[in-house]
Amino acid sequence: MTKSALDMSRFSDDWLDFERQHTWHPYTSVPAAVPPLPVASASGVTITLTDGTELIDAMSSWWSAIHGYGHPAIRKALHEQVDTVAHVMFGGLTHRPAAGLVERLVSLTPAGLERVFLCDSGSVSVEVAMKMACQYQVARGREGRSRFASFRHGYHGDTIGAMSVSDPQNGMHRLFTGLLADQFHLPPPPAAADGPFHPAHLDRTEALLAANADWLAGVIVEPVVQGAGGMRFYHGEYLAALEALCKKYGLLLIADEIATGFGRTGKLFACEWAGISPDIMCVGKALTGGSMTLAAAVATADVADTVCSSEPGVFMHGPTFMGNPLACAAANASIDVLTGSDWQSRVANIESKLREGLAPARALPGVRDVRVLGAIGVVELEAPVDMARATARLLELGVWLRPFGRLIYTMPPYVIDDYQLEMVAGAMLDLARISSSPN
Ligand code: PMP
Repeated sequence: MTKSALDMSRFSDDWLDFERQHTWHPYTSVPAAVPPLPVASASGVTITLTDGTELIDAMSSWWSAIHGYGHPAIRKALHEQVDTVAHVMFGGLTHRPAAGLVERLVSLTPAGLERVFLCDSGSVSVEVAMKMACQYQVARGREGRSRFASFRHGYHGDTIGAMSVSDPQNGMHRLFTGLLADQFHLPPPPAAADGPFHPAHLDRTEALLAANADWLAGVIVEPVVQGAGGMRFYHGEYLAALEALCKKYGLLLIADEIATGFGRTGKLFACEWAGISPDIMCVGKALTGGSMTLAAAVATADVADTVCSSEPGVFMHGPTFMGNPLACAAANASIDVLTGSDWQSRVANIESKLREGLAPARALPGVRDVRVLGAIGVVELEAPVDMARATARLLELGVWLRPFGRLIYTMPPYVIDDYQLEMVAGAMLDLARISSSPN
């Protein structure tokens, strides 16, 4: 079957022709090899296309729309905020939505994280965290410590600093040689399914950190789940042991909770699986319940005080839309919806239903692994998914999934019901089946 497997003639809107010729979508050519589906509206767990097709959302819009679309509390907060002040610069001015968000983040994130830098997107929060770590080391008189260690199979974003600490293969480092800083890429944490944690798993990492500590500002890691770099799960004990190594060698630990934060793994933050408090935590994605772009780098008082105690006495970053009131208002509403809900049992229910629903995939030819953690379900294939064929099939099945490479995965909204989950698991099995069958 070829790309024409996706029959787009059903979507006849005029604007689409121009859109297709001129718009760049994420990780695509222009025009895109597989045309994006035109969305008319989204509500709850349903995405409605312009021809009226309804799709069950199994992606939470790249893991952010945890309450589904158009949650009334978030809509109300946005309406009220747009009538008050949609945006005002954060340099020299402040406002209640940002203050409320900072208070919530300080109270919810692990102990010790107390100073909040608001920023525009996940990748930017990673840049901010890396800059903080560098300024911290300079302030401590360790000028040479400006590089980072990170794990293979990791993913931290698409901006230049974030890319430099992402997996060198997945991150396509060879395309950007000379542009990306040379970082230290550590062996990936062993997969949780491969057996219990053993301290020896970190021997090579410790040797690398010990040998290079004089150049390293910190270590950046996705706690417990390596997301876009492979959807790999690893033991909390590994992270706890890594934290101890960072302390031993004077390195700041940056926890990138952009994908895992706000309940996705079954804990509010995945660091809780390890019982650790990092020096800096990045949050984003689900922060606004997927309604607006917003992220934050949350640091300890030690990091912030050290950064601000020496030349130039300030942290050198300040984006135009920092602390955008609309985004902060949405984030406050989303956090209140989350903390006021029984999200733990919802996520636990998603986990058990996905375990049950995806188990038959293990017996399918072409399936390498099936894994579930919290509200994350993954079917890993031997070969990459044919996206045109998969998208056409998903339209028939009425489910929205966005596989990448060899991975068919779901991160559904927490409000998904059991019937919808069955449909999602069924669609994942279906894609696994067609992926291993001849065209
Ligand atoms: N870190 C992690 C762990 C992520 O999953 C992502 C996004 N997939 C990012 C950083 C980058 O976030 P954004 O796309 O908002 O820049």
